Amino acid sequence: MRSTLSQLECSRTACAETLSPAPARNLCPACRSPLLARYDLDLAGETLTLDALAKRTRSMWRYAEVLPDAPPVTLGEGMTPLIHARRLGEELGLERLFIKDEGLNPTGSFKARGLSAAVSMAKAVGASAIALPTAGNAGGAAAAYAATAGIGCIIAMPADTPAANIIESRAFGADVRMIEGLISDCGRYIAERAAGEGWFEVSTLKEPYRIEGKKTMAYELWEEFGGELPDVIVYPTGGGVGLIGMWKAFEELGAMGLVGDARPRMISAQAQGCAPIVRAFEQGMAESEYFEDAETVASGLRVPKALGDFLILDGIYASGGEAVAASDAELMAACLDMARLEGIFAAPEGGAGLVAVQQLVATGRIGAGETVVLFNTGSGYKYADAWQAALRK
Ligand SMILES: *Cc1c(COP(=O)(O)O)cnc(C)c1O
Repeated sequence: MRSTLSQLECSRTACAETLSPAPARNLCPACRSPLLARYDLDLAGETLTLDALAKRTRSMWRYAEVLPDAPPVTLGEGMTPLIHARRLGEELGLERLFIKDEGLNPTGSFKARGLSAAVSMAKAVGASAIALPTAGNAGGAAAAYAATAGIGCIIAMPADTPAANIIESRAFGADVRMIEGLISDCGRYIAERAAGEGWFEVSTLKEPYRIEGKKTMAYELWEEFGGELPDVIVYPTGGGVGLIGMWKAFEELGAMGLVGDARPRMISAQAQGCAPIVRAFEQGMAESEYFEDAETVASGLRVPKALGDFLILDGIYASGGEAVAASDAELMAACLDMARLEGIFAAPEGGAGLVAVQQLVATGRIGAGETVVLFNTGSGYKYADAWQAALRK
């Protein structure tokens, strides 16, 4: 089994530019939109079967056919627990509520998946340093994978990023630059310097392989449900990499004949303090507008305008999904529920996902008999301040 990566393709169907996967690439040179990796799925489908997978490595690299063509830079990311949340489900009236606990990845969030794929490819094409803006967890993951790959890592973070993210990035040897502003300001800082400094940018969706790493969440669900897909997926959305990636993975599984036509409804969960996707969804828009004065304890959701917003919204609309916002008080209360009823110490982002489930069950938009997967996207251990404040109440 090996990668069947064939080319990169522009994500704007109107553009349809195609490129070879190497050298290191960022946006589409023709229209500056994100690029998507394409594979020889006929070939991939010959070997990517449930039986074959049973004998493979226990990391996301088990899906090698549909991952970048590079020696893996790996810390054992993926294959996170899928927990049947019986007590929480009972309280909500849901028999089949599952929590995919991404907090158990290396560096404590699902950013590990994307950065493992991106750093593997960056290393393979000879990049000497990667650079990115981050709202928190992407920095720690990038720094860890750069350390194990033996390449440099430059990170721009908002000055009020949770301390754990700054500490871990520095511990892994990254060059951390603190910026007064939001992730969009950090993005500008990196973009202005990357070419001159010889950094390869691995910013969300500016780099095509982070999506590929994160899409493995969908392959895992397919494998864990024995070749079936859940009815509903709830995804705390910042840049939307995972939602876009999973939607892409379902298409790939369909093209390989490994699933039928039915797709999960994709639910995007955001924080009220930064809800550009929810706002766009409520107005039926194809793209979002910059969300002014973004503020929330769920730092991973503090993305005022995602580069791939049109792809996120595509996935939500095409799947018959929804977009739901939670206040900080609500999402921390939901984190407490998850901790007390399921023993899961969630990131605030995961709490936003649970609020979405609660609201959609209450309004009948999720049915009692449906199979629902809620993503807890990170570990609560990185959000000591938010947790301390929540427990004081
Ligand atoms: C980055 C992050 C998110 C948002 O992920 P996207 O795929 O960029 O939408 C959610 N939760 C946590 C904990 C994160 O670190």
